[in-house]
Amino acid sequence: MANKRKFWVVLPPTGAFQRGEDRCQVPVKEMMATTFRMPINAAYISALLKKKGFDAEVKDYAAEKADENRALDEISKAKVTDLIIITSPFSVEKDNAFAGKVKDVTVAAYGAQFLFSTEKYVLENVNFDFVVFFDYIRVFLDFDGRWEKCPGVAYRSGKKAAVNKPNRALYDFNAVPFPDRDSLKNEIYTDPRDNEMITTVQASVGCAFRCKFCLAPVLTREWHGSRIMCRSAESIMAEIRECYERHKIKKFFLRADTFTMNKKNVLELCRMIKESGLPIKYVANSRVDTVDCDMVKELSESGCEVIAFGIETGSAKSLKRIGKTMMRPEEYFKKAEDIVRCCRRYGIKSYLFFIIGFFWETKDDIMETIRLAKRLNGDYYEFHSPVYYEGTGLFEEAGQRMKSTHTSKVSTDFVSEEEFEKLYRKAVMASYFRPRMILGVLGEIVKRPGSVKNYFEYGWKLAKRMVKRE
Ligand code: SF4
Repeated sequence: MANKRKFWVVLPPTGAFQRGEDRCQVPVKEMMATTFRMPINAAYISALLKKKGFDAEVKDYAAEKADENRALDEISKAKVTDLIIITSPFSVEKDNAFAGKVKDVTVAAYGAQFLFSTEKYVLENVNFDFVVFFDYIRVFLDFDGRWEKCPGVAYRSGKKAAVNKPNRALYDFNAVPFPDRDSLKNEIYTDPRDNEMITTVQASVGCAFRCKFCLAPVLTREWHGSRIMCRSAESIMAEIRECYERHKIKKFFLRADTFTMNKKNVLELCRMIKESGLPIKYVANSRVDTVDCDMVKELSESGCEVIAFGIETGSAKSLKRIGKTMMRPEEYFKKAEDIVRCCRRYGIKSYLFFIIGFFWETKDDIMETIRLAKRLNGDYYEFHSPVYYEGTGLFEEAGQRMKSTHTSKVSTDFVSEEEFEKLYRKAVMASYFRPRMILGVLGEIVKRPGSVKNYFEYGWKLAKRMVKRE
């Protein structure tokens, strides 16, 4: 019976968000130095379905910039029986509307946000027959084809929502099949610096830190009883090798909530990458208090080109209030400077993330962040306004103030929308229009002449953002 069903795991043409990220599904257009990432959750779901003998495929209409008609037409022609929509807090209404146009297909939707207010989502989004509200890997390890019986799935039953208790048993991440890259158009996920194919390899899931704005610790607690789900270096290496040999992919985003959290695991993986002799390059994420210069050196020698750091803020007040670190603010800021300098020494680009516009912030707080950003002298920057994800401490603290998950109109209790816009522009100006940045871009263009178009687009995006934030 199983093989008569046809499952498509779809990123619908309803907006460009990083839907593969559970903790942060921000709009792609708001990211200055990143394009679409490979939808790792969709690819895992497809792989797990295939392992069970189902016919499954991933369709990333969002990244392909396909229109709705094409998506609906293909779904109908392919005689899909079960559609699994990867949604985001920003697009859920549109995704539900899209689901309403799909005929004679069972529609399920997955989104990390469904973990909270599950019943409300089920009752409001009437075109989703089922909602997957728990860890998608756990759910599809358990799925036997019967949506109504599947743990971690909710659905409407009469006028009420039926919520199936999730299965909280942990699983061996090393035994989970590799994401289904066979059905992905791997070539559409590229490194914006040189257009080379880049894919995402999940190194671990979960975070032991407690940043109040972040969904990762909430999911870690709810999904895995606060355990970090790690993969062995052998398993990660085997996937890298498969990507290289089978899909000719040489660039990787080694994704983890904090890749550098476990030094021993990181050093083991660096050693294996070096010993493999594969000419690969990779990007990883970190926080400055989980890395030291020795580790940076090892990362560099094993092919790490970029490290993304969530610095978050330059305001001592905000740093304490968001619970980012146990370090004293001045130590933390100093550590950030040291690590960014160390990255420079070993030829790794630093990609620095900041959040401005927490509801308690004054102009001075935001200016402190801008000054820190400038002082760090990094290579790439992102400035985001906070997203109030349900379940996070920030969401609770904000009270009724900011219950919408995302809005382009940002103000704080002390800074008007107009003033925030000016500060935002100042932040971008201060971090991008610096001699180091300009020389760095020129150096990249000389090294990789093919990148000139990308840098032009990048500059254009920046210029547009200086005029208007959408
Ligand atoms: S370190 Fe903080 S921001 Fe990063 S994943 Fe963990 S909780 Fe989230």
